[in-house]
Amino acid sequence: MRKIIILLLLISILFSIIGCQRTNTDEKEIFTPGTYEGEGNGHNGKIKLEVTVDGNQIKTIDVKEHNETAGITDSAFNRLPAEIIEQQTVAIDMVTGATSTSKGILEAVKSALLAAGASEADITKAPTKKDVTGQLIEKNADVIVIGTGGAGMSAAADVIKAGGTVIIIDKMPTVGGNTILAGSAMNAASPEVQKLQEMPASQVIAIEELLALEPKDEYMAKWQEEIKADMKEYKAKGATYLYDSPALHKLQTYVGGDYVGNPKLIEIYGNKALDAVNYLKELGTEWSPNILAAVGATWTRSHQPVKSSGSNGSAFVLPQLKFVEDNGGEVLVEHKAEELIVENGRVVGVKGTKSDGTPFDFRGNKGVILATGGFAANVEMRQEYNKHWANLDETVRTSNPSSATGDGIIMAKAIGANLVDMEWIQLVTGSGKGTFTASILNNIYVNIIGERFINEDARRDHLSQAVLSQPRSMFWLLTDGHTTIDTLGGYAVDGTLIDDRVDNTQLFKGDTIEDLATQIGIDPVTLQKTIDQYNEAVVKGNDILGRKVFDKQFSKPPYYAGIGVAVIHHTMGGVKIDENAQVIDTSGNPIPGLYAAGEVAGGIHGSNRLGGNAITDIVVFGRIAGENIMK
Ligand code: ADP
Repeated sequence: MRKIIILLLLISILFSIIGCQRTNTDEKEIFTPGTYEGEGNGHNGKIKLEVTVDGNQIKTIDVKEHNETAGITDSAFNRLPAEIIEQQTVAIDMVTGATSTSKGILEAVKSALLAAGASEADITKAPTKKDVTGQLIEKNADVIVIGTGGAGMSAAADVIKAGGTVIIIDKMPTVGGNTILAGSAMNAASPEVQKLQEMPASQVIAIEELLALEPKDEYMAKWQEEIKADMKEYKAKGATYLYDSPALHKLQTYVGGDYVGNPKLIEIYGNKALDAVNYLKELGTEWSPNILAAVGATWTRSHQPVKSSGSNGSAFVLPQLKFVEDNGGEVLVEHKAEELIVENGRVVGVKGTKSDGTPFDFRGNKGVILATGGFAANVEMRQEYNKHWANLDETVRTSNPSSATGDGIIMAKAIGANLVDMEWIQLVTGSGKGTFTASILNNIYVNIIGERFINEDARRDHLSQAVLSQPRSMFWLLTDGHTTIDTLGGYAVDGTLIDDRVDNTQLFKGDTIEDLATQIGIDPVTLQKTIDQYNEAVVKGNDILGRKVFDKQFSKPPYYAGIGVAVIHHTMGGVKIDENAQVIDTSGNPIPGLYAAGEVAGGIHGSNRLGGNAITDIVVFGRIAGENIMK
């Protein structure tokens, strides 16, 4: 196993003042003094550390090696070793949002302490409860941003660029929200880069089908005209490269959302998409030259950060965070916003509570930007607004963190904001340990009898509906060496090694199709026939299920299979915003001082968001909110 040592973090916390620590007053020594190695399982693999003890005290904890995701897990590494030393126990609370990493750290420290001769009882005493609830905290800045996902970070960065001061808060102990967990990519038409790839004939047909649609309004007609003119030139040149343009991106976004989205917002969105990619590049995100198609993207325009930029999600949040912190922005975690403060009809701040119970009241001279994300993890809201899925109760899993509870929507509604498109809730099929990449590539979906049942380049709602109607509401996601080795370099989208997942029996691996089929309980002859048909479609472009976006043939061993299900992924609806990202009230007027961006806002993706469109949305509208609130 190739081990990546990301961590050079050396936590050497020596408390010189004995009073800082709980001391064991027992005469008997509980440890054999010395330094001991410990190991635990984190989210992405082993966490290794060293613990130094004297006769009855834990003195230092040095984390030596881990492969956990930067940004998401920093708070666990910063906080837990210090707390263990302060409290002299491993029975301390895990860090919300980084629970797997927390478990790994606690397990590693515990194993070192047991090796030092401690008994379980010696090191699992209940910690001393601290009562730290304090006086009301009051702060002031030009702008208060609520939420540290991609939208909040981009908004905060642009407030600073416009010369403002900013406080950005998050209720979780870690920054990044749902964005930092994203495995997907960022859609933007970038014709000069896309030209380096070929366009299969099936994709030319897809464009022609879009051009043949009856335009719904002047925006759609304009986009179609632009593409028509481009395609005329393209054909006259005898071109075969991958065509794309902002107009095609906008048209697909509008059509893919069944014309429910607001074309005025989509117009801005498509025009600013490439700027958003370049803006992240300026802040430090390194982009791979390989443009892929995210699951549900319906086109090959998904930009992927290179692996050295961290996980995909980190690359969409951490560059802005660095900019904000380097330029005087105040980033406060564990601050939960509870109520918008309105004075004389204007939003002037936010009230809330820190996780230790301390109340706060933060004022923004220019106002507040809501960037609190969606409500995929709020079962009550899912059930209140869902009209299109048979069931979205607590038995239906979500890919979102527990923080995605729609707080911003609730707070804005309470002061009169209008909500739009709330009934549209997206389920996605590519998520979890059975997944390799959030891109389509040459991945194939088969049901438990080994047959394909859907064009894998379909919209996410169609994919999810199709999966839910299969036996056991599941599918096998198949992939091959072209994807796992050539494109992914052995790593799955969340940074874990694909072959480690095979060892953990989360994935299956076979040297031949027959071998793989046998392992997953499918008739090898049926599976081989499915693969043969698929490979023929890659060459001829005549897929019986209508797939049009292809990569390579499914032909390079080893072959892999992972279990796939449909999970709740994105909520398209939210507060209504205008072209300036200002929140609109139920009478159609902008609410002074209140802006919103990202998943908390509705109106762009309509009934169905295209895969890879969310990251673009949060950066584009985050920036628009930041710029406009400062005007
Ligand atoms: P987006 O993709 O729109 O940027 P994310 O889900 O990535 O949204 O981020 C939203 C962030 O907002 C999360 O980090 C979440 O913890 C935070 N958040 C949600 N509700 C609150 C709240 N009431 N107070 C402070 N932060 C919140």
